[in-house]
Amino acid sequence: MADYKAPLREMNFLLHEVFAAEKLWTKLPGLAGAVDRETADAILEEMAKLASNTLDPINRSGDEEGCHWNDGVVTTPEGFKEAYATFCEGGWGALLGNPEYGGMGMPKMLGAQVEEMITASNISFALYPVLTNGACLAIDAHASEELKQKFLPKMYEGTWAGAMDLTEPHAGTDLGIIRTKAEPREDGSYSISGSKIFITGGDQDLSENIIHLVLAKLPDAPKGPKGISLFLVPKYKVNEDGGLGESNKVNCGSIEHKMGIKASATCAMNFDGAQGWLVGEVNKGLAAMFTMMNYERLGVGIQGLGASDRSYQNALEYARDRIQSRSPAGAQQPAKAADPIIVHPDVRRMLLTQKALVGGGRALSTYVAQWLDISKFGEGDEKKNAEAMVALLTPVAKAFTTDMGLDCTVLGQQVFGGHGYIREWGQEQLVRDVRITQIYEGTNGIQALDLVGRKTVASGGALFELFAADVQKFIDRQVDRETMSEFVRPLAAELQRLREATEKMVAASQEDLHAPGAASVEYLHLFGYVAYAFMWAKVADVALDKQEVDSFYKGQVKTARFYFARLLPRTQALAASVNAGSATLMDLEEELF
Ligand SMILES: Cc1cc2nc3c(=O)[nH]c(=O)nc-3n(C[C@H](O)[C@H](O)[C@H](O)COP(=O)(O)OP(=O)(O)OC[C@H]3O[C@@H](n4cnc5c(N)ncnc54)[C@H](O)[C@@H]3O)c2cc1C
Repeated sequence: MADYKAPLREMNFLLHEVFAAEKLWTKLPGLAGAVDRETADAILEEMAKLASNTLDPINRSGDEEGCHWNDGVVTTPEGFKEAYATFCEGGWGALLGNPEYGGMGMPKMLGAQVEEMITASNISFALYPVLTNGACLAIDAHASEELKQKFLPKMYEGTWAGAMDLTEPHAGTDLGIIRTKAEPREDGSYSISGSKIFITGGDQDLSENIIHLVLAKLPDAPKGPKGISLFLVPKYKVNEDGGLGESNKVNCGSIEHKMGIKASATCAMNFDGAQGWLVGEVNKGLAAMFTMMNYERLGVGIQGLGASDRSYQNALEYARDRIQSRSPAGAQQPAKAADPIIVHPDVRRMLLTQKALVGGGRALSTYVAQWLDISKFGEGDEKKNAEAMVALLTPVAKAFTTDMGLDCTVLGQQVFGGHGYIREWGQEQLVRDVRITQIYEGTNGIQALDLVGRKTVASGGALFELFAADVQKFIDRQVDRETMSEFVRPLAAELQRLREATEKMVAASQEDLHAPGAASVEYLHLFGYVAYAFMWAKVADVALDKQEVDSFYKGQVKTARFYFARLLPRTQALAASVNAGSATLMDLEEELF
């Protein structure tokens, strides 16, 4: 497998040239003075080193060894403990944290690039800090001052890690039917009892303590999602002086043996009257979870992107090296027994599809991160508008980027032929590792329902119009630029196709209860392809005039052309499926399946 090389040039290009990040950072009231270009670049360079030198080297061995469970104790694969210690010493767990409790308060636009490098080099490792970040966000937004002071500094340090305990054996998507109970205790805390499954980092040997955020129900709670509360339940209780106290009746019953991310411990957790503290309000636990959900979901999209880029890097190196057959145009390297496979149109199709989807995904993640930053650090109408954009775009960034992530890693495997199927080259690991990103943090089917139902139909298409207005603003700015018309014209046509599909779907949903669910996944994909087209047009806008200066820009323009010519036309088939309605899906009697 090729060594991981962080795509710093691409990241800098996006941050500083396409999205003018520094200008935005200076303008945002909550960020002023916190970060400038120099700091951002230094942070990216440091993470690039950590990813290549520390995380990448234990990726394959972590997959082969996996995690161990022995009598309730979980051990991570060799090298993980040391890598985690290095990660924490570098202060990486504090990057996006609240400065009041020891965080660095950096923008998500920067965090997104950092996350990509961590996940691309070692997705299993990435999950330990990612889950801690998620727990910190929820605590910061909803917990009492006392809990924040007690837990956040140690969690930002990484001395204590976090876990999110939602899923139960009978309750995954439908959390309204969870059974874990929370009984009030006299001292104001709660006694938590129940079983959770599939808990990432539920137990591990990396941190001194594990802070579980657990969804549970009070005895008199209303039925369904409105009766769920959120509790902070540490593995070890914490004394008044901040030191670790006794064990808190939180036990790991087993770990899962699974398809991929084998170095990430996926735990069955038992809470047997463990002491917990309420986070946020009683019965508002799901809402509290949703605060961090947008960050988490974008993060999962970035996992899809990281795996795609890793697979692309390997495939590209292999395609330049592997010689098989001659080019249809005649021998390109006559001195060799055959030409490198990169000369073949079909191999180029696979590589360019990867390159175009990686570039589109990275730009979309940065674009959504930009809206997250404005919604967090901005003010007034600008902040409100950004919140709406985040709500609309998050399911697309999560589901489309991870669906494309599987496609990309499979293409990267295919470039290797049979050598991609065997373990030696690492391409099959990426396919196995990335597959989970389509499932956890809300399956991609549920993301599509969220986009269609809560975000589009429920708003009568109003949120979609916000996105459309941003695309239109870009198109209008190009009106006098002939060189951009090859991108702007099709982008305008695709925006119109998406608008028509949106309007039809909203209208159909008034008459047919199955209409949103029937259209949802294809609608999300249609949206995703148009969003990536917007991103590639933005890239071309910057790169077109600089092509002669630096071949990097030429590569960007040519990839944009490939995207528009070869991938964007997929929208035609998707729109036809969206417009087909629910009849053919629902007509077939169940016994005829
Ligand atoms: C490796 C791994 C790590 C995980 N980490 C965590 C973690 O850290 N914390 C945690 O709490 N959970 C975690 N999970 C659980 C994960 O989030 C759930 O598996 C996921 O949300 C789906 O729930 P489920 O498996 O019960 O599937 P189900 O909810 O049973 O869904 C089965 C299928 O039905 C579909 N479906 C369900 N309802 C609907 C509907 N209304 N409309 C249309 N389709 C529907 C789904 O899309 C899916 O295709 C993890 C899971 C795995 C495998």
